[in-house]
Amino acid sequence: MSKHRSIAIDGPSGAGKSTLARALARALGYLYVDTGAIYRTVGLQAFRTGTDPEDGAAVTALLSGLDIGLGYGEDGEQRMYLNGEDVSQAIRRHEISHYASCVSALPQVRAFLLDRQRQLAREHDVVMDGRDIGTVVLPQADVKIFLTAAPEARARRRWLELGQRGEQTDYDTVLRDVLDRDEKDTHRSAAPLRQAEDAVLADTTQLDLKQSLDLLIHIAKEQLQA
Ligand code: C5P
Repeated sequence: MSKHRSIAIDGPSGAGKSTLARALARALGYLYVDTGAIYRTVGLQAFRTGTDPEDGAAVTALLSGLDIGLGYGEDGEQRMYLNGEDVSQAIRRHEISHYASCVSALPQVRAFLLDRQRQLAREHDVVMDGRDIGTVVLPQADVKIFLTAAPEARARRRWLELGQRGEQTDYDTVLRDVLDRDEKDTHRSAAPLRQAEDAVLADTTQLDLKQSLDLLIHIAKEQLQA
């Protein structure tokens, strides 16, 4: 049986994980798996049904009737489906970030999604990004990268991205959200965000997109050959 290659990229929100992981996957011919999108889909369902995203029992009750689909469009982009509906755009809304962050702190939600993520790595060469990929989901990943940047740099990038999508928010609000999510993601008891011992640290505070991608390609190629 051929073993597929896997590259785990973890780090805080706004470090450029999705953009860079997608570009890295393209450069290597691997499948890109955005695990945050899966948590966002659960968060969206909580939002739509008026469920308190911090209420473990209520969110667990939602899971049993939840049909989450993951597919790839002709453009190679990951698409998310919620009970058959394409929610790839809806999950990107600003308020859904908060819902995703809350539901992802629930162990029941993490357990529900764990095998789904591992299955993708069993079937494909993947670049998978998230918070606990190198530590929990794929501890045997061939390459582990912890991608980060200063909170101010991450907030600025996120603020520009939201503006480009027509969502008007002020920078201070986005910075507060970034710090708030960092706090939640690193201090939760279920699979907190932390750098795996064998992960390579990549700090992109001073790097533009191309420099960051070059760094990631360099790390990945070096580790894949090791
Ligand atoms: O990466 P993204 O911002 O889209 O993720 C949304 C939320 O999902 C994050 O705030 C994080 O709390 C959670 N998440 C997680 N584990 C992952 C991916 C995302 O807890 N593997």
